[in-house]
Amino acid sequence: MTCYDVLVAGGGPAGAAAALTLARAGRSVLLAHSGRGPAPVGEALPAAARVLLGDLGADDALTDGHLPCLANRSAWGGPRLASTDSVFDPHGHGWHLDRVRFDRQLRAHARTQGARLATGVTAQPNGRTADGSWVVELRGAGERRTVRCRWLIDATGRRAALATACGARRRTGDRLVALHLTLGPADPADPDTTTTVEAAPDGWWYTAPLPTGRRLLVWYTDADLPAADPGRPAFAARLAATRHILELAARHPWPAGAAPRRAPAHTARLADPTGDGWIAAGDAAAAFDPLSSQGILTALYTGLAAGRAVHARLVGQADALDAYRADLAAIGATYLRNHRTHYAAEQRWPDHPFWRRRHPPPGGGGHPTLVAIPGPSPHMPG
Ligand SMILES: Cc1cc2nc3c(=O)[nH]c(=O)nc-3n(C[C@H](O)[C@H](O)[C@H](O)COP(=O)(O)OP(=O)(O)OC[C@H]3O[C@@H](n4cnc5c(N)ncnc54)[C@H](O)[C@@H]3O)c2cc1C
Repeated sequence: MTCYDVLVAGGGPAGAAAALTLARAGRSVLLAHSGRGPAPVGEALPAAARVLLGDLGADDALTDGHLPCLANRSAWGGPRLASTDSVFDPHGHGWHLDRVRFDRQLRAHARTQGARLATGVTAQPNGRTADGSWVVELRGAGERRTVRCRWLIDATGRRAALATACGARRRTGDRLVALHLTLGPADPADPDTTTTVEAAPDGWWYTAPLPTGRRLLVWYTDADLPAADPGRPAFAARLAATRHILELAARHPWPAGAAPRRAPAHTARLADPTGDGWIAAGDAAAAFDPLSSQGILTALYTGLAAGRAVHARLVGQADALDAYRADLAAIGATYLRNHRTHYAAEQRWPDHPFWRRRHPPPGGGGHPTLVAIPGPSPHMPG
């Protein structure tokens, strides 16, 4: 049975960054990517990603097939659009990614650096041997085999499939859900190069052009509110009540019969992103509200950091995981501070549950607190 130093489960940005880092360090690594589940939705990549991709030796992942993002605009706290132009960003412009292409390019980089890539297979830990190695089952269409590894990296996304199978506890902070729809290509071509956000009484809207000429339209609200009705008529009615989003969406045709799809978008993290012989990276370790625009960036960063931590541990550095844990705690604390500040800036609908839940109670307190919230699970299918 083949034995790897590390098996990375999940070939999104976090898993690819982890595998790339370990392969560059000379480790034997298997990157297992199921490719199962809905296509990834996140597309806006902040300019700061240039630095991380440079550290990973993968800066050319952005050369082809992606659109520059020249400004971020938002109607938040008032009806008028405010714009942050990329000319003021020391890193330059961001990107509207072709996510499938971007993720594939990163996996190809990992393979070029020496990682073994197994696509179309789901990795599932299935016990340990006497020397502590993991036995991992790889299942794909018509395929079932077993490999061994010394360390596991869980980069399976929000489900944190491996970490939770190892008994890790996952904490959630809210019930945010995304209803997303991709509109058809505009004719004439849409000149918009921005991301645009608009707050509404029961949530907020996001739209951005896609490299294919299409447009992504996303409505964010809480899964337990009536505003989470995924039906096309309800979605269209809410869209009609917007000002800026409607104007941008109106340039694009609605695909016949298409209805919005639902994806989980709540804040969540593992109580501990590491355990005996495993470490989690990306959304599996900490998943953020997409308002932060930090998901892919954090996935790249934590993938790289997890890869370094496991390598350091394998060469005998006993405290390597402590540093990773501390790093993640600091990222989480900064995220929660920013989250509270951003939502506090919108005060037009203080009595609406969506906003009331996100505003700190009078006299202090914080939100979100990342505890297990009562009631139905906020985890949506997908
Ligand atoms: C609606 C929405 C909009 C978003 N918008 C943005 C945005 O504009 N910008 C941004 O930066 N972020 C955004 N995000 C967040 C961003 O998409 C995620 O943070 C990012 O994809 C996390 O990357 P990851 O590698 O951790 O996980 P993922 O990208 O989820 O990749 C995990 C992969 O693991 C595979 N997998 C799962 N289980 C197994 C298994 N057992 N074995 C093998 N493979 C497995 C899956 O096929 C999946 O492809 C958004 C999220 C949502 C929900």
